[in-house]
Amino acid sequence: MSNNVDELVDFDDDEVFPQANEKAAKEAEPTTSKKADNLGHVAVHDSAFGDFLLKNELLRAIGDCGFEHPSEVQHQCIPEAILGSDLLCQAQSGMGKTAVFVLSVLHLLGKEDENHTSCLVLCHTRELAFQIQLEFNRFKKYLPWVKTKVLYGGTPVAEDRNSLKSPFHVVIGTPGRVLQLAEEKTLKLDKLKHFILDECDEMLDSDMRPDVQKIFRLTPHDKQVMMFSATLSEEVRSICKRFMKNPREIYINDRAKLTLHGLQQYYLNLTEQEKNRKLVDLLDALEFNQVVIFVKSPSRAFALSDLLNKEGFPSICTYGRMPQEERIAKYKQFKEFKARIMISTNLFGRGVDFERVNVVVNYDMPDEEVTYLHRVGRAGRFGTKGLAISFVTGEADNKILEAIRAKFVVPLPELPPQIDPATYMTT
Ligand code: ADP
Ligand code: MG
Repeated sequence: MSNNVDELVDFDDDEVFPQANEKAAKEAEPTTSKKADNLGHVAVHDSAFGDFLLKNELLRAIGDCGFEHPSEVQHQCIPEAILGSDLLCQAQSGMGKTAVFVLSVLHLLGKEDENHTSCLVLCHTRELAFQIQLEFNRFKKYLPWVKTKVLYGGTPVAEDRNSLKSPFHVVIGTPGRVLQLAEEKTLKLDKLKHFILDECDEMLDSDMRPDVQKIFRLTPHDKQVMMFSATLSEEVRSICKRFMKNPREIYINDRAKLTLHGLQQYYLNLTEQEKNRKLVDLLDALEFNQVVIFVKSPSRAFALSDLLNKEGFPSICTYGRMPQEERIAKYKQFKEFKARIMISTNLFGRGVDFERVNVVVNYDMPDEEVTYLHRVGRAGRFGTKGLAISFVTGEADNKILEAIRAKFVVPLPELPPQIDPATYMTT
């Protein structure tokens, strides 16, 4: 892919790479999964990780992580990725997209990469960067020479400068800090081989795009580009492809049919004043391992956490403006099951993986249907069961509810008075 400034001036120009894109359109027939629903409700493939001919060090680590079979997205993408192809991949939340790029990159790293940064992963939140680093670290267990580093704002930049004096082979970060360090050449990207965007629609369809683009231009022409998301509109797909050369496009399940099989989804019509009482009743009645409650503003997150704590439901909250160290501490607390109720703004709406979350409550309805899909995808990870309940108040919320039904074809009935815990608790 090109990093030439002239060629990548502005994505609003069409046809940045006309030949490449035409060719890609012809060659890259999108792959849609066969109905791979052969283990309960998760698309797990009956092939084995051994079939991918990955390094032994990786196969051992995969075994240690307890992964038995690759998921459908892993089955389709890993063989392509380890051949060095560019990859544009859409697959539902919780299907193991992270392991696709983590395993492929670790497989491709070799002794010749020992003295430079070979892989850069960009993502939209600091917590997700941190989580991706954890995923690299657990799979590189038997490749101890590989060093990983996370870079994100809200921490002293001097510390990053200092630690970057020795090279990190894999760098994971959010665009602002990465760009700053790359522009001043503290982070050297001139030998980069793998450029990865997780949650790529969020990265390229938001105000992060200019930074991503600038970072991209600081990387070599020849490299592998891989992008991942659970949601990719046609428009965003074409933006993504401008960063790639003949990408393999792998779309597991068509966007129109996106839903999460293990997840039961309900709505409740109620007034703003009824929300607190209802939430407390639900937390009383439901059996949950961990629950995430989404609200629309930091002040509401804070107030609701306070209220729940007083009602005898210990809870923690997080939002973007919270000081960085505190944010990561909250993330860890929840990940390590030290808290069972997390209240969050959209910050935790995407990407983050908490295995034990089986209930998601939209205390405030999101204002876009795509956000809804990502949020509820925090429950039912990797095919576990889960329950999502959305509070619907007023006309705007009702419209979103209709849009979700139309776009994702999910059965989204009104919450019945009783739900059998067996339907949303994984035993
Ligand atoms: P996505 O990015 O597609 O939303 P993640 O990469 O966050 O999903 O993975 C979701 C969860 O599934 C993680 O807890 C991960 O460890 C687990 N997982 C991924 N692949 C497998 C597998 N093949 N077998 C078992 N668990 C897996
Ligand atoms: Mg992910």
